[in-house]
Amino acid sequence: MNKFQVLVVEDDAPIRKLIATTLKTHDYKYLLAQNGEEALMQASTYSPDVVFLDLGLPDLDGVEVIKRIREWSIMPIIVISARSEDEDKIEALDAGADDYLTKPFSVEELLARLRVMQRRISLLQSDTELVESSVYINGILKIDYAAGCAYKNGEELKLTPIEYKLLCLLARNTGKVLTHKYITQKIWGSAWDSNVASLRVFMATLRKKLEDGTENSSLIQTHVGIGYRMLKVDSGQ
Ligand code: CA
Repeated sequence: MNKFQVLVVEDDAPIRKLIATTLKTHDYKYLLAQNGEEALMQASTYSPDVVFLDLGLPDLDGVEVIKRIREWSIMPIIVISARSEDEDKIEALDAGADDYLTKPFSVEELLARLRVMQRRISLLQSDTELVESSVYINGILKIDYAAGCAYKNGEELKLTPIEYKLLCLLARNTGKVLTHKYITQKIWGSAWDSNVASLRVFMATLRKKLEDGTENSSLIQTHVGIGYRMLKVDSGQ
């Protein structure tokens, strides 16, 4: 039995039903909301573990819902949007959403995103212990924050200061999609187009150093036109 409670915010009844049925079949607990106001009420009353949030709601804008939840909670929010709403998706991620699903999506995709969030939550919980040792371990990657060093399979990576900063930023947000704008603001303090172009170059060299072509080494996921995400590799692999 999954103890996870999921809040589903969707005004489209058939989609809401599909998600609810999927969650029920996989033993997740769930709450349903048809609009933004209901979503905010459910979120504050029940403090769910994960929120699936449709961006196009009849009353409030989905991005507004994210902003209001983020005033008091870091609960993972997975945005659901139509393919044509790419800009809204980026705005939602910048407002604090963790991930997104594009309509139409499959049930398998939905469950996969949910598992990513579950791993992210367990990582956040174990992070409390990691703060003391200040060591990050994810698959072949190890970062020693105190020493300012990163290792691949125990071997120190020769990273430039920007590559190291990038790696730490992604690691600290493992499981979360970070937008180009968010990353460039964190690394360079601004989000000019030229910085986004530089980001691509730095990311390419970082990956070359970090990944060795095996499946297990694919830690950084590219989201074309949106940004990047550090994946959590299952332990024991
Ligand atoms: Ca809708």
